[in-house]
Amino acid sequence: MTTSQTETKPIISMENVSKHFGDFQALKNVNLDVALGERVVVCGPSGSGKSTLIRCINRLERHDAGRITVDGTELTNDAAMEKVRGSVGMVFQQFNLFPHLTILENLCLGPRRVLGLSPKDARDRALTYLERVQIRDQADKYPRQLSGGQQQRVAIARSLCMEPRILLFDEPTSALDPEMIAEVLEVMTELAGSGMTMIVVTHEMGFARRVADRMVFMDQGEIVEVGPAEEVFSAPKSKRFAQFINQIL
Ligand code: ADP
Ligand code: MG
Repeated sequence: MTTSQTETKPIISMENVSKHFGDFQALKNVNLDVALGERVVVCGPSGSGKSTLIRCINRLERHDAGRITVDGTELTNDAAMEKVRGSVGMVFQQFNLFPHLTILENLCLGPRRVLGLSPKDARDRALTYLERVQIRDQADKYPRQLSGGQQQRVAIARSLCMEPRILLFDEPTSALDPEMIAEVLEVMTELAGSGMTMIVVTHEMGFARRVADRMVFMDQGEIVEVGPAEEVFSAPKSKRFAQFINQIL
């Protein structure tokens, strides 16, 4: 396959994806293609399957029907996921930094252990991305010495240190005090502008309007509405989405 063919294909493709937890169906025939460089915001009520959807993309959950293809590899088993592990980064609601390591050490860990970078290369890379999230001066501190907003920016820098092609965000600002949300959204907005492929689960509709190429609205395990952000916000097609935005705005 030539490069141009690869580039025009979606970097993420979900076809008729379903996922059960026991008898409960958390995803119902989900279809979603994401193009290289596209920014997709996923919203929907609690329990609608948003986390399950993005966790299936990096195989933190296994789908039980349908096809998921990521960066050219169909996720048929864990070995397939290993092939694309480095393509996909994820930022969680909880920052999950190692408390006993400094910020710099937290960032060097993956590049050293997983990518095999030398200590110097890992450090240079970590400092570059700390600079990018505007927190380079905190490199030698421990996570507990940073605010929640700073810790989440570190978590974003840690993902960037692995130089993924796709970044998944699962409610990255939900655990933050209100005054810290903006600084994290600002970093994410900058990233979006840099051409990173992003899927962001968030209820921050201001961010969604500014950044999303497409909005996805989920309810009860289904994608109920999907479309360009400006269309979806100005004229929602489904009643459920209209009600949802009215509630949260
Ligand atoms: P959202 O992120 O939209 O709040 P989730 O994807 O976390 O929703 O969950 C969708 C549904 O699947 C919920 O009803 C949730 O309780 C259920 N669920 C999620 N993870 C598990 C699990 N590991 N075991 C059983 N049920 C789960
Ligand atoms: Mg969730």
